[in-house]
Amino acid sequence: MIKFFNTLSHKIEPFHSIKKNEVKLYTCGPTVYDYPHIGNYRAYIFEDLLKRFLVFMGYNVTHVMNITDVDDKTIRGADKEGISLKEYTGKFIDAFYRDLNTLNISKADHYPRATENIPEMVHMVKSLCKKGYAYEKDGSYYFNISKFKDYGKLSKINLDGLKSSVRIDSDEYEKESVHDFALWKAGKKGEPAWDTDLGFGRPGWHIECSVMSSKYLGDTFDIHCGGVDNIFPHHENEIAQSEAHSGKKFVHYWLHCHHLIVNGDKMSKSKGNCFTINDLLRRKVDPLALRLLLLSTHYRKTLNFTFKALEQSQSALDRLKDFLYELNNRPIKPGENKSIQGLIERMQRKFIAGLSDNLNISSALTAIFESIKKINILLTKGAVFKKDAENIISSLRSLDKVLAILPPKEKKDLTEKIHKKIEERNKARKERDFKLADKIRDDLLEQGILLEDTESGVRWKFQKNVNSDK
Ligand code: AMP
Ligand code: ZN
Repeated sequence: MIKFFNTLSHKIEPFHSIKKNEVKLYTCGPTVYDYPHIGNYRAYIFEDLLKRFLVFMGYNVTHVMNITDVDDKTIRGADKEGISLKEYTGKFIDAFYRDLNTLNISKADHYPRATENIPEMVHMVKSLCKKGYAYEKDGSYYFNISKFKDYGKLSKINLDGLKSSVRIDSDEYEKESVHDFALWKAGKKGEPAWDTDLGFGRPGWHIECSVMSSKYLGDTFDIHCGGVDNIFPHHENEIAQSEAHSGKKFVHYWLHCHHLIVNGDKMSKSKGNCFTINDLLRRKVDPLALRLLLLSTHYRKTLNFTFKALEQSQSALDRLKDFLYELNNRPIKPGENKSIQGLIERMQRKFIAGLSDNLNISSALTAIFESIKKINILLTKGAVFKKDAENIISSLRSLDKVLAILPPKEKKDLTEKIHKKIEERNKARKERDFKLADKIRDDLLEQGILLEDTESGVRWKFQKNVNSDK
């Protein structure tokens, strides 16, 4: 049985989807005022793990992630550069899609943008006014939190200091200030604004997620995710807007990922302690080792980013890839060792049990790495046969559908080409034609293929950073 920690109930709960075998998932996406940093990607990789695991377990997942392309920060940025909001946010949206690819994050079904859903947002604000949950003041519209009895149920904020009818315009604010929040902001000179039934203006931040989630997933859906910083005010306000509007429960399970920190501080643009994916690629970091690092700490624990930890992830990933290399390239006798099938089944069971237990990734990874250790011992003893090797490879490939840390499978003709080159080089060396041998090695290196002379012969691998399997 799959269990998740639900922020709403503050408990670990068995997971039951609304519709059998179907999961509707909404995750808060980037505010595209700058290049996303690896803290943001910690959240997106946690959500990717969740989604891939649910798919692995047989669910058909519909995933929506919004793109916030109009808010205080994007407007400020575009204004500073003297370009349109669309032009300003466009380059960060492109970078975001590129990064998703680099990190093997599976694509959502929909990436709706705030600016493309203005009429729907206007509709919801009007409905909230009609139902008495919202009011207008100086051309802006606010949600009256005193009218929504369940306000605070997600974040468990203390409502003693509640100052209803005191308004907050800013999109983000602290826990201490429990105020009415802006649904729609009256247009200001020089700012982008839309001419609508609510007047000339632009949406507040929170309304977009209420509108875009129900548009694609319905009024009530299964899982909503984000980082813990989203719990208040953003998700608290989403619940208020959505439930006041529809009169139905908004979301069944709320899952929140804890922060990526650097030296004790949350990684964030405002603190200037960020790394983007490009920063790390420039340092020749293997993006899949980064993915493994961001994945391997449980999502409800804070993760401290260090380059030392990144090196350790790289070694773990190399161990896995070297193991697959051995199984693929070592001369292995035909036949089968029945005990290996048992080992594979135990690994799969432990992997699934780990992730079913509120995404216990350590347990899932231990299942894999302990099995590799055991099989490696058998491999050196010559107790692994052709059929076993095939079964192990296919099982690891199948578990990697959840982890997505292995590069895609090499193309068979590419391997054959490389093996031919290695043979040519061996021949040249036997004939003491070292010039030719070195040329073959250098030519391969230029194509990103590194040869290593080891005791058991020549091995080849793709250089770090090259997205291909060994
Ligand atoms: P933003 O672009 O700031 O709206 O954030 C997009 C997503 O990244 C949200 O789900 C945030 O909670 C999450 N996030 C931002 N900073 C971090 C961090 N340092 N660690 C983990 N998640 C983060
Ligand atoms: Zn959101």
